Amino acid sequence: MAADLVLLSPLDGWSTPLSEVPDPVFAEAMLGDGVAVDPTGDVLHAPCDAEVLTVHAARHAVTLRAAGGVELLLHLGLETVALGGDGFEALVAAGQSVRAGDPLIRFDLDRLARRARGLVSPIVVTEPAGGRIVERTADRLVAVGEPLMVLRGAGAIVAASATAPAPAAAELTRTIVVPLSHGLHARPAARVAGCAAGFEAEIALSTRAGRRASARSPIALMALGVRQDDEVVLSASGPAAAAALDALAELIQSGMGEAPHASAEPPPPSPPTPPAVAIPGRLHGVSGAPGLAIGRATRLAERDLEVPVDGQGAAQEAASLAAARQQVRDAIAAAQAAGGGGVQGDILAAHLGLLDDPELAAEAGRQIAEGRSAGFAWRAAIGGFADAIGGLADRRMAERVADLRDLERRVLVVLLGEDGASPEVPPGAILVADDILPSQLMAIAPSRLAGLCVSGGGPTSHVSILAAAMGIPALVALGPGLPAVTDGTTVILDADAATLHVAPDAPALEAAQRKLAERAQRHAAARATAQAASRLADGTPLPVLANLGAVAEAACAAEAGAEGSGLVRTEFLFLEREQAPSEDEQAACYRAITDGLAGRPVVFRLLDIGGDKPASYLRQPLEENPALGVRGVRLALRHPELMAAQLRALLRAAPTGQVSIMAPMISRLAELRAVRAALDEARRALGIEAPTPLGVMIETPAAAVIADQLAAEADFFSIGTNDLAQYVLAMDRGNPELAAEVDGLEPAVLRLIATTCQAAAARGRDASVCGALAGDPAAIPILIGLGVAKLSMPPAAIAEAKALIRTLDPSACRALAAQALEQPSAAAVRALVQAAGG
Ligand code: PEP
Ligand code: MG
Repeated sequence: MAADLVLLSPLDGWSTPLSEVPDPVFAEAMLGDGVAVDPTGDVLHAPCDAEVLTVHAARHAVTLRAAGGVELLLHLGLETVALGGDGFEALVAAGQSVRAGDPLIRFDLDRLARRARGLVSPIVVTEPAGGRIVERTADRLVAVGEPLMVLRGAGAIVAASATAPAPAAAELTRTIVVPLSHGLHARPAARVAGCAAGFEAEIALSTRAGRRASARSPIALMALGVRQDDEVVLSASGPAAAAALDALAELIQSGMGEAPHASAEPPPPSPPTPPAVAIPGRLHGVSGAPGLAIGRATRLAERDLEVPVDGQGAAQEAASLAAARQQVRDAIAAAQAAGGGGVQGDILAAHLGLLDDPELAAEAGRQIAEGRSAGFAWRAAIGGFADAIGGLADRRMAERVADLRDLERRVLVVLLGEDGASPEVPPGAILVADDILPSQLMAIAPSRLAGLCVSGGGPTSHVSILAAAMGIPALVALGPGLPAVTDGTTVILDADAATLHVAPDAPALEAAQRKLAERAQRHAAARATAQAASRLADGTPLPVLANLGAVAEAACAAEAGAEGSGLVRTEFLFLEREQAPSEDEQAACYRAITDGLAGRPVVFRLLDIGGDKPASYLRQPLEENPALGVRGVRLALRHPELMAAQLRALLRAAPTGQVSIMAPMISRLAELRAVRAALDEARRALGIEAPTPLGVMIETPAAAVIADQLAAEADFFSIGTNDLAQYVLAMDRGNPELAAEVDGLEPAVLRLIATTCQAAAARGRDASVCGALAGDPAAIPILIGLGVAKLSMPPAAIAEAKALIRTLDPSACRALAAQALEQPSAAAVRALVQAAGG
């Protein structure tokens, strides 16, 4: 028989039964049984000897595994995850062993008292391992180290049941990490719910912060606010519980096409949003979709839809609501059938999922049962969820409120017998609205719209995504000044400069018209000459190459004018799968890329996974700071068998002279030497005599600083300005708040590029750029002036880059670059380029 496990109080304070915690997730023991403590001290201690399983990123909660497989959640305060770590200091890390009484988290009690919803801190046995709590302390003062609960029988039953099948009704659980780059937002939530609906099982998803949602409810899932890299617990009971868990875990861990490794090139950094200087007639917003447009403002008038509060009998109201929802469902299905694929298709599918959300329907049903009308009930149900989602700290989730409001309106239009026809817009209109619902935008033919401006929204809201997919320039978040723009006013919408020029005078209008005409011409001319070899104005070759992230892109890149590939992100082959690709599979894939480029040179980058691009089969522990973690070459050197197989596959695929190899995230000479040794070993194993060029990516400040050392042994450099900017500026490249500021044109970054080019030139090596800066027209003359020999960019940018390069004089580029290095900011560098005619 297993010994009792005595759990000591981890806090000084007042002990309270869990059932009295004002949060149903704890009070109803959804996460497990336990006791809560209202703290009077400021340090959370270990209640027993244990291993730290997780320390939440917001540092307000830890999970522990004690003897016999017992798991505990120690959660400081209520809804404290929203504090984002403010006021908490983690004193331990995941994986650490602790003894009873060891300090785990220090917290600022005063700050918590002021900012958290409650201080009471649940201490929950989330995995009793077959045991149960037989004694607990409650309703009295406790001191750290005093007994709080006694768990009896833990471990023994687990051992016994290990061989026996689980009873059908038992709840199975699985802990997974969510790889979705935007968290569990509308589309993935809808897919999870769709998947869950296919199983005869009760399935729930709980966060480590103690929130739980039915996996069948996309809205409840969204309201959890799960973000990328959050650990969540899937639990299921019922006949198909095990299969449901397998399917859901696989679906979520697949990334659903949203994992951070997405091979699409990040767009070149847009210039930082200018400060909202009050120039008369100019409004400042945020670019939702790029481009320039001139047109007449056309207001999208929104009439308020009034619904009666009281219903005319629950049965009648329920039937009306069901019929209205069915009509909207049919309309969405018809739009899908009519070819709403791509982004539109995804949004329509998400709307369908929301429309069928069981919790939304249940809430509306509750309102109807209380005597409300169908319209009132539907609006109230949507409103409750919209408030919950709109209040989430994650801005992307909050932007999904527009989808809910869209559905609210569509169902109300049907219920009230209103005319839901699409708004009439004159051709060439620039639509102006407080907000526009995705369905309203989809209902307008793109050919009629020149542009779109809204007071609200954000760069990741569905209207922005839709506008970009429809090729319509869009400005969002224009704020309270927009309503003053009256119907019929001429406006210039410059999404690239994030401004709306209202009622411009004749010269401004003419200038914008010229700019538009020039753009159209430039586009057409660039495409016509894209296949010519890229040269500067004096004839010096300046090859333009493509960045590739999939086999199919190789042939398209060649068609777009690529003179080869300066970066193949080979990680596309390694992610979203259960096992690493075999050497043969890799070789076939690499060969397909060299074939697609028909003899043009190709630089394959060794896999850059780890950190925020995890591969499940490598079983990497969660990292608190993945950008500074085990990624790139650091990971390859920890998995030599993986690197060796990739090197052999590359050598086998490599037609002599066509292929080079480079290593990502190098920060020391020793790493380059280790990769070179592995490459030599692979050559020996295959009996290949001819050496394959081996280069390094310069994307850490360290690599740029020791570029002279690296140049002595590397065959070439490729500068990764995306990461270099991130690390030099200490700004997360994935943080939407900082996105406009992580600009490779910051003089600090440019100076390191200059150092790198000088070191390369001193040894007769080439330095190329393969980060997003390479495709940025404002950066191209400066990079060339700094000594960059080749540029590798997304295929879509190639034609215009080649056309620009043809006009550039190398000595003018050098003068411009020298001036750029002396500027005070990236904005000043961009202004300098513009003044120079760029
Ligand atoms: C870079 O960091 O600039 C780069 C090209 O690599 P990635 O964007 O794949 O990290
Ligand atoms: Mg990089």
